[in-house]
Amino acid sequence: MKEKEYHGSCHCGSVQFKIVTDAPELTTCDCSICIRKNALMVKVHETQFELIKGEDSLTEYQFHTHTARHFFCKTCGTYPFHRKRVSPDFFGINVHCLEGFDIEGIPVRATVGAGMA
Ligand SMILES: [Zn+2]
Repeated sequence: MKEKEYHGSCHCGSVQFKIVTDAPELTTCDCSICIRKNALMVKVHETQFELIKGEDSLTEYQFHTHTARHFFCKTCGTYPFHRKRVSPDFFGINVHCLEGFDIEGIPVRATVGAGMA
């Protein structure tokens, strides 16, 4: 896929962000939290992520090793992104929060978070 900028937001619109990605793959995760959220993620480096607004609306949830940082909107409960545990310089972005992101044809890799945890 060609590298492209995507705009993302939570459901109520308090949290707005943009990313640049060529989306080589998407990942699902079977860790205890991701499996509950049914999240489908794309990984971007922190330099390709920009939070436009909503810092005050984000609540952070941490568990286990407290390295991964899971953010969600405290108004609508949407889970737009997290900081990854294995690679903290990267954000995992919930692709369902992105405008015009077509998941068709992008390979999905199942990562094994449960095994690592
Ligand atoms: Zn919200």
